[in-house]
Amino acid sequence: MTDQNYSFFDSVIKSFDKAAKFTNWDPGILEQIKVCNSVYKMKFPVRIGDNIEVIEAYRVQHSHHKTPCKGGIRFSMEVNQDEVMALAALMTYKCAIVNVPFGGAKGGIKIDPKQYSVFDLEKITRRYTSELVKKNFIGPGTDVPAPDYGTGEREMAWILDTYVAMHPGEVDAAGCVTGKPVSQGGVRGRKEATGLGVFYGIREVCNMPEIMQKLALTTGVADKTVVVQGLGNVGYHSAKFFREAGAKVVAIAEWEGAIYSKEGLHEEEVFQHRKKTGSILHFPGAENLVMTNDALELPCDILIPAALENVINGHNAPRIKAKIIGEAANGPLTPEADIILGNKKVLVVPDMYLNAGGVTVSYFEWLKNLSHVRYGRLGKRFSENMNKHILGTIEDLTGKKVNEAEKKFIEHGADEIDLVHSGLEETMITATREIMDIWLSNPAIPDMRTAAYILAINKVATSYAELGIFP
Ligand code: NAD
Repeated sequence: MTDQNYSFFDSVIKSFDKAAKFTNWDPGILEQIKVCNSVYKMKFPVRIGDNIEVIEAYRVQHSHHKTPCKGGIRFSMEVNQDEVMALAALMTYKCAIVNVPFGGAKGGIKIDPKQYSVFDLEKITRRYTSELVKKNFIGPGTDVPAPDYGTGEREMAWILDTYVAMHPGEVDAAGCVTGKPVSQGGVRGRKEATGLGVFYGIREVCNMPEIMQKLALTTGVADKTVVVQGLGNVGYHSAKFFREAGAKVVAIAEWEGAIYSKEGLHEEEVFQHRKKTGSILHFPGAENLVMTNDALELPCDILIPAALENVINGHNAPRIKAKIIGEAANGPLTPEADIILGNKKVLVVPDMYLNAGGVTVSYFEWLKNLSHVRYGRLGKRFSENMNKHILGTIEDLTGKKVNEAEKKFIEHGADEIDLVHSGLEETMITATREIMDIWLSNPAIPDMRTAAYILAINKVATSYAELGIFP
């Protein structure tokens, strides 16, 4: 089966329509959910050295069924209106599935950030932010950007500073953007959030006996073999949490090649080796796979593509041997691959919710900004005092003492990082169960991705129906 050339937004619409058939919503409501509510394409001049460059940029608000809208900002030469619209739509569905009360949005600046100095990048980012301010396309109650491809904490700090300068005295201004450094109102736990969310989502699937039986796998994550593509933020943290839970990461792929070890790889050691030698290859005790994409075709229980889109396609899908694919990256499977893997009964856990850890923790950051207090500040000490008291009473009554390590664990009061991880765990478990319930309720629903879309459509449509539509 060969892959067709779909526009990204077209393929989102295609998946939406496939799922909408399983719902009974008014066609008008479905149409309203599908379309992008506001598309802002802008061009602005920035002086770079002796020249004036005209920069092309976008901000798309896909849905206003809940406000603010939320979604990252990309810096990439691939940025175009269709891509930003598709990514904004996916944000609406992603937020709905994980019960984050935002509409979807996305932004992009068509530049190659590697071609600019830090000084010039700051000018471009600040100018983009002021364009958003002028059109009311940014603000804690209207639209809240975040990092995406090519942007990070640094850019978010520039956006915040520009917004604050243009809104002096606005008490909730810090909530105008998320993914900020902790010193600027960011939240602890954002960095590992997506990889940890991927782990929690897959672990929940692995804990479902009826699903594991169908795949001829035992329940639980321990001893499962895992292949990870991409040792960046998401891949590194996914590998880390799987390894810590007792799974074996048997292969890791990077763009220059892949490595395999039956005994399992330690992501930090591989990361350090790559840092030192400049390549993932020749890792002590591991076999080299010079054709990096061969790693995707290795026999394993769980395959985690965490690098790029379209890496599993009509060409290589027939050779995939994994039983579960966890879509950590955005769009790693083409629609053709989806069909082939569906026929092969491979379980594809869809990106639309599996990589929602980042936006979930962004939501926690926004709440922190609006409440103006660090998570755990009010309750931590109280819990510790109470836990100490309870433990002391039990020890007195039983005449026995718990060991020091156990004591430390029991007495510990929740800090910001504990609460963020716990909120993320709850979110991913609930979303996985809700999607599975829909999938298992109707044998005609072909895959988990369609079930995830149905859940998203139901949530957004309910919101529209309850809000009422203006006459
Ligand atoms: P990243 O840039 O930190 O990591 C990507 C890694 O993939 C890099 O190490 C890169 O060298 C590697 N890579 C590139 N080409 C490759 C190839 N051909 N084969 C193997 N590896 C290759 O990016 P990230 O933040 O980890 O994001 C990865 C994916 O996850 C993207 O699709 C992104 O959209 C998605 N995602 C990220 C987040 C987040 O919070 N970072 C949230 C949701 C979705």
